[in-house]
Amino acid sequence: MILSVFICLVLTGCNEPAQIVDCGFYFDTYVQIHVYGEDKQYLKECLEICESCDKLYSAHDPDSLLYKLNHGESSDYSALYPLIKTSKDYNDLTGGAVNPAIGAVSLLWDFSDKDNPSFPGSGNIKDALIHTDPSSIILKDNNVSLTDPEAKIDLGFIAKGAVSELIRDHLIEKGVKSALINLGGNIVVIGSKPGGEAFTVGIKYPFSGDVIVTVEVCDAAVVTSGIYERNFVYNDHFYHHILDPETGFPVENELLSVTIVSSDPTKADALSTACMVMGMEKGLEFIENTDDAEALFIDNHYNIYTTSGFPKYEYQ
Ligand code: ADP
Ligand code: MG
Repeated sequence: MILSVFICLVLTGCNEPAQIVDCGFYFDTYVQIHVYGEDKQYLKECLEICESCDKLYSAHDPDSLLYKLNHGESSDYSALYPLIKTSKDYNDLTGGAVNPAIGAVSLLWDFSDKDNPSFPGSGNIKDALIHTDPSSIILKDNNVSLTDPEAKIDLGFIAKGAVSELIRDHLIEKGVKSALINLGGNIVVIGSKPGGEAFTVGIKYPFSGDVIVTVEVCDAAVVTSGIYERNFVYNDHFYHHILDPETGFPVENELLSVTIVSSDPTKADALSTACMVMGMEKGLEFIENTDDAEALFIDNHYNIYTTSGFPKYEYQ
């Protein structure tokens, strides 16, 4: 009996570290950090990382460094260099599907209030499209500048992934072995749950609160891009926040969402948005030929398509 009590205690994991959680609101989204451990200081540091990144990368906050760059102020922009460089690399890698210079157009759209949609107007979009050439972003001497004074950088397609990667690296450096970082649906997990089990992450059924597929992951990022959260209806037409860089209007294809699993959170964020722009066929082929990335696509009939390596993550 003593033995069975002992086994029971081990199985229920009474020696496992407790889960500590903290939340905040950054990047216009809810942030939740779960760490298995005791030290609440780590949580505080993670939220500080969010705060300082918001002050770097926000295209909307007049106090952010990116806002200053976008509005022609002269300053030292070296703190923006690494992520803008990475964002340009993804522009090349995806054949232009994601474009960090889309700001002149994307910042005309406002998806913050579904009930009071503000439609930017086709003429304005057409005029702004001329100012979305990624080659107007100059990366030189560890600094960033814009050759076109009307051009604006939007890091919305990649920033949450990059910040979650910074948080992950910070926690790993502090010795954390088990954690889950959730930046508004961009999920990154460190290690496995304290008992050794994988973390389970639910992929949302688009336009409903339900879960359509559950994945089990360790040391990975699970990032979804979709048309079902930031959108509005105007003159009976549905508009959402993932834009076709060619037209400046929301992409119109068969996709409702794309989820990427990768060990690289920045890659998962950039490529989930890129696949939404590419569409099902091109997107599937692109991820099939990309290292360290698997994808799940949901189309407008709620059919699910995956890359060949994705099923190994699916919870059976
Ligand atoms: P979420 O912010 O919902 O996680 P994404 O990572 O897919 O979604 O990023 C969408 C954001 O990226 C948009 O809100 C906009 O700021 C920006 N964006 C939209 N379309 C493009 C595009 N084709 N290339 C680069 N950025 C884009
Ligand atoms: Mg993205």
